[in-house]
Amino acid sequence: TPTLELEHVTKVYKGGTRAVDAVSLRLGAGLLGLLGPNGAGKSSLMRIAATVTRPTSGKILFNGTDVVSRPNALREVLGYLPQDFGVYPHLSAREFLSYLAAVKGLSARSARRRIEELLELVNLTEAGRRPLGKYSGGMLRRVGIAQALLADPKVLIVDEPTAGLDPEERVRFRTMLSDLAEDRVVLLSTHIVSDIESVASDIAIVARGRLLRRGAPEELLREV
Ligand code: ADP
Ligand code: ADP
Repeated sequence: TPTLELEHVTKVYKGGTRAVDAVSLRLGAGLLGLLGPNGAGKSSLMRIAATVTRPTSGKILFNGTDVVSRPNALREVLGYLPQDFGVYPHLSAREFLSYLAAVKGLSARSARRRIEELLELVNLTEAGRRPLGKYSGGMLRRVGIAQALLADPKVLIVDEPTAGLDPEERVRFRTMLSDLAEDRVVLLSTHIVSDIESVASDIAIVARGRLLRRGAPEELLREV
């Protein structure tokens, strides 16, 4: 089973903000919910874990390989949904996903099959031919989830994925994530306890860049 390890990860931005402060986390298969208020450093930590941003210091290991110096070892098996996920408004969801599949090197045939599976999973089969510029916020989040799952990732990193989803979409999304987490590393950030309390196998609480607690939801969420 895959493992992702963050060792003493620190991020100090140019202005001097210490957004992440000596965080160490070890993740195996299952869903780790990263819970903390706005400004806690969650997005910074997610970008670092996804190898989009380099840490100022510290290590990230995927299956024992240092992915700060060799990011492709992780990127090839990674699905990432950033908080500021952007799309091309003139493309339909199908066209957008086809474009990303081509960039990722999927064959046209397997891409077509995979895209239909994913559109069904995120309930956009019908809407999939309309231009993304006409989508609601929740629909765009679901496109974001679909793109993160395109290459059947072993590691899935999703930053505040339920922002803009309606209650029904949230429930659907939680079920989908817990299925995925059975044999994958899933890291999900949120400031909303209910996003993770029923699905996370593990919770990490962050504030001001620091990891405060880590443990089982039953144990930690009694206190917050
Ligand atoms: P890095 O150290 O990762 O290269 P930078 O400090 O160069 O990060 O900033 C990366 C980008 O994020 C810049 O375009 C910057 O303007 C923008 N940025 C700056 N401050 C913030 C902030 N508080 N929140 C989000 N983005 C920011
Ligand atoms: P969260 O996702 O928990 O809201 P962030 O990682 O976005 O936290 O932000 C943590 C801190 O780092 C905040 O003070 C934010 O303003 C700052 N920050 C985030 N990104 C940048 C950046 N690119 N450049 C400078 N400061 C940043």
